[in-house]
Amino acid sequence: MHEKCGVVGISLEDRSAARPLYYSLYALQHRGQESAGIVTHDGFQQHSHVEMGLVGDVFDEDDLAQLNGSNGIGHVRYPTAGSVNACCAQPFSVSFKSGSLGLSHNGNLVNTPDIRSELADLGHAFTSDGDTEVIAHDLARNLLESDLVRAVKRTMNRIHGSYSLTIMHDDTVLGVRDPQGNRPLCIGDLGDGYVLASESAAIDTLDGELVRDVQPGELVVLHPDGTGYDTYQLVDADSTAHCFFEHVYFARPDSNIDEKLVYDVRRELGRKLYEENGIDTDVVLPVPDSGRAFASGYADAAQDAGADVDFAEGLMKNRYVGRTFIMPTQDERERAVRLKLNPIKNTVEGKSVTLIDDSIVRGTTSTQLVQLMRDAGAEEVHVRIGAPPIIAPCYMGIDMASREELIAADKSIEEIREEIKADSLSYLSIDAIADALDSTRGDLCLGCVTGEYPYDIEDEATDREVNRPTIEPSPADD
Ligand code: AMP
Repeated sequence: MHEKCGVVGISLEDRSAARPLYYSLYALQHRGQESAGIVTHDGFQQHSHVEMGLVGDVFDEDDLAQLNGSNGIGHVRYPTAGSVNACCAQPFSVSFKSGSLGLSHNGNLVNTPDIRSELADLGHAFTSDGDTEVIAHDLARNLLESDLVRAVKRTMNRIHGSYSLTIMHDDTVLGVRDPQGNRPLCIGDLGDGYVLASESAAIDTLDGELVRDVQPGELVVLHPDGTGYDTYQLVDADSTAHCFFEHVYFARPDSNIDEKLVYDVRRELGRKLYEENGIDTDVVLPVPDSGRAFASGYADAAQDAGADVDFAEGLMKNRYVGRTFIMPTQDERERAVRLKLNPIKNTVEGKSVTLIDDSIVRGTTSTQLVQLMRDAGAEEVHVRIGAPPIIAPCYMGIDMASREELIAADKSIEEIREEIKADSLSYLSIDAIADALDSTRGDLCLGCVTGEYPYDIEDEATDREVNRPTIEPSPADD
């Protein structure tokens, strides 16, 4: 299961949390369109509303009105082909001996089966095959023996993989980021309370101020009365493993992740793409929407270098068509590209064009778009991609297709160029990505472009030092 999701948690002084949670989920809708949910706590009991569908369809006025309390968490979940599954919709909530627990998870654990079987032996019954329920049960068990902070630390020492979590224990909202900070999570100040969210765009939507990113391995505990928060650095790792693909494709360009505005990073990647593999054509065209910032950076760099090139819109996007990845078959995916994008003939006809997109996964989009450009009268079609070739699957939370489906898994760039029928094709280097993020290869998760993962994935090669925790039934040291 590859969960690519958005999470949020809010504690307010004396306002209901339901509506701000609802607005935040709207701001995070791009992170998941399969299901949406909110769990609140009113000081006495939990209230929950979780359903399949888009945020706007899942909640109506009555639903929001019954979500009482000034503390709550929310979740949007991304669809994976073939696994549209109501049991995995979140937040996951349970009541147990020492209180109620709600959990929203973005990421993917790689040692769930071990923990699940250990807990099952101890009598825990599971209702889904997801990671989140396993984290919830592990935490519930630790809470029987320890205080909240120690219980979270014990669970963090047992689970391995990527996770950004918002958790609600009774009316206390917590945020946790995995020790290598693979998925994003940040804290915002709302004036009369605090918010934890996958992306800062959710904080902006609430007119709040971004305080900072939650640090890798850090736990943030919001005060239930909305007056502040406490932080605990619970687990330290030697390096980080920030997902570079959040910056390339997944996150909103108006979000700040790990102290970088995604828009600036994409523009910088576009500039580097020109510096590394620029080609001078009559016009530079973005593939909307994610190609836009790349193409504007690329065109700027071209113009700075003295090229006589126009930056124009050559493709119109139908904003009512969802992401092509929800199409289960290749035939449907091809049709979806055509539904989604239509050329603006006058910007293309008789011209040499450079098409800029953020990534090639299966190759469906590029193949279709090159053909569309030719049908619209382009004389030459050059394709430039703002990421390195994607050669391996993602196990850390991005739905990226299996290895067999990835066009770059077993083809050279020249073979891909032939297949998509472009006049030329170039990708961005891995070093350019690390440079643009002011980081190093060792502090990024580059699994999908190197096949080397920062976590110990069964049946995958990795050249990094990976410490998979040993799971012991006795409490880990505090
Ligand atoms: P493909 O057509 O399979 O080569 O997919 C590439 C297109 O999908 C590009 O236009 C990307 O912007 C977009 N894309 C890249 N990664 C993903 C993803 N994980 N989920 C959905 N769309 C993606």
